[in-house]
Amino acid sequence: MINVNKIPGKCDVCNSDCDDLTIAELPGTPLHVAYCAPCIAANAHPFDLLVLQVAMCGGADAVLENVSVDYIPLIHDTLDHLGRSLQEFEEAVNHCKQHLQTELAKDKANVDNDNTTSTGDAPGSTQSGHAAAVASEVQD
Ligand SMILES: [Zn+2]
Repeated sequence: MINVNKIPGKCDVCNSDCDDLTIAELPGTPLHVAYCAPCIAANAHPFDLLVLQVAMCGGADAVLENVSVDYIPLIHDTLDHLGRSLQEFEEAVNHCKQHLQTELAKDKANVDNDNTTSTGDAPGSTQSGHAAAVASEVQD
């Protein structure tokens, strides 16, 4: 827990209204999250962010296989606190992995496309021409 600011709002973990949220870094990420006191006491973190983080660690079959040992209690504490099952978590991670792989494949296809259909124009030349036209319209 790095930043501690007591402010009112919704807890990012349990979604309850709270008047003394603590804003703190999600372990292992640069993200800051709003926690209510019971979620901090339970070592609980936002379900969807844990899903994303574990999905990005890889591991097709055993979801927790490639996750840092330090991270596993944090996942179990979160699931216990939110009343969600490990099976539900694993299904969400696998769904997220499939989505990430689909998006990565699309990005790769786009990059390959850009490389093969290049007309030799400088990248962004059309866009900067348009920006120059807009800038001149604004000046007139
Ligand atoms: Zn909470």
